[in-house]
Amino acid sequence: MRIRSLVYSILCGSVFAAFASLYTQPRLTRYPGVRNNGPRTADDGLVPEAPRSPAPDERFKADILVVVAHPDDETMVSAYLAKAVYDEHKRVAVIYGTRGDGGGNAMGYEQAAALGAEREIEARRACAFLDIMNVWFLDGPDTPGQDVLRSLETWNHGAALGKAVRLVRLTRPEVVLTWLPDYVAGENHDDHQAAGVIATEAFDLAGDPTVFPEQVSAPRNRTSISNLTEGLRPWQPKKIYYFSDASHTDFLEGKGPEYRTTDVSPSRHLPYYRMAAEEMRFHLTQGDTGQLAKQALAAGNFEFFKQPVRLIFGKSLVKSATTGDVFEGIDPAAVPYSPVRGYQPKQRDGLSLELGGPWAFYPEFWKAHDLELLARLLPTPEVSVQAGETLHVPLVIRNDSAASAEVTLTVALPQGWTERTGTARYPVAAHDVYPVQAAAVAPSSKGPEWQEVTYRAEADGKAIGSVTLRVNVTSGGGLPQ
Ligand SMILES: [Zn+2]
Repeated sequence: MRIRSLVYSILCGSVFAAFASLYTQPRLTRYPGVRNNGPRTADDGLVPEAPRSPAPDERFKADILVVVAHPDDETMVSAYLAKAVYDEHKRVAVIYGTRGDGGGNAMGYEQAAALGAEREIEARRACAFLDIMNVWFLDGPDTPGQDVLRSLETWNHGAALGKAVRLVRLTRPEVVLTWLPDYVAGENHDDHQAAGVIATEAFDLAGDPTVFPEQVSAPRNRTSISNLTEGLRPWQPKKIYYFSDASHTDFLEGKGPEYRTTDVSPSRHLPYYRMAAEEMRFHLTQGDTGQLAKQALAAGNFEFFKQPVRLIFGKSLVKSATTGDVFEGIDPAAVPYSPVRGYQPKQRDGLSLELGGPWAFYPEFWKAHDLELLARLLPTPEVSVQAGETLHVPLVIRNDSAASAEVTLTVALPQGWTERTGTARYPVAAHDVYPVQAAAVAPSSKGPEWQEVTYRAEADGKAIGSVTLRVNVTSGGGLPQ
């Protein structure tokens, strides 16, 4: 900084501070018949009048906060958002975890950060089409894959969560809509899952003033400079709903409200699917959404957009049925902070075999966050793999005994599969775990749609446990596992 500009900024800063202090310093009030000079005492009737204390800024209040991973993810629920915005007069805000900088570009050569810059604008224009102007980005890198733990790592989990908690406190949503935090057969994008994990954590933490306390501490002088606390207030949202990118929808039946997109908006006189197609059309860098919508609008063929919006009930702090409307039970009064169960370690003994990685994380996550319904959604863990590709299965052999052990792992694979790693004898120290990365290659011809892979472990000739994965073998496409 040059000297001249430094002097200028000091001058401007102090003029601003002096001006601001006129508005923030308590002013003395003269009461009739009371002396207004000389020292004040507690009982002389002279009390300062404090300035007005502003309420949270209503311009940012949201009824629905949508937390997703990529520009175009909001199209999963845009037909419902059109109904909520135009026909129920709900205020909606959106958080994107990333700018979608890892995708292909159907428009031009712009890639990586340049593509992210384009997609941020596409997302803002798409949201603005539904009059949604409050849109933020958590700045995570687009991380194409299927393991949520990798996205949480690349997004810098703690930093992204801090931003999400800030935005929950700023927008004070009644309801949070987000991606399903679960491992499903389908697109199963790890960024989608990370958005769902972070939204759930923010739902449970934003009301706790000991979490990111700098966000909920009042500034020293709000109209002046150099305030380093944020002046937000703790906030407890009331409900959280999820939506899924699974390739099958059977497991969603009856698990939450469903909204027909063929209904006609009473205020707009258009079917919701049509508004969803027009909203999607802004994502033109994306072949499978923006370009698809553009073609649908040109051809007048909206079949793709006529599928209902299916939501999964996560949890509610107000009385509401699982399949009831998103706003069932919600009234304007705030609800108190509601602590969740949190992680509770299991009592374990002896030897055992469990799935590792995301399949080990999710059951504990659902329990810790009081998401009992999610725990019952998919009774057998599932995964999809392309024909001819490698399926990676993280496993954990646990030894919760006081003696070291040797555990033999074997696998039962469907016809045509080849094992790459897994089957072996594993030495496991007392009170320790052995993480195993098992892998098997699916046959190059597709075969049955659903197949089962089972790993078994035994020690001293006795079975100690087994795990089974349902595998959806697909003929192509999909993200790397
Ligand atoms: Zn996405």
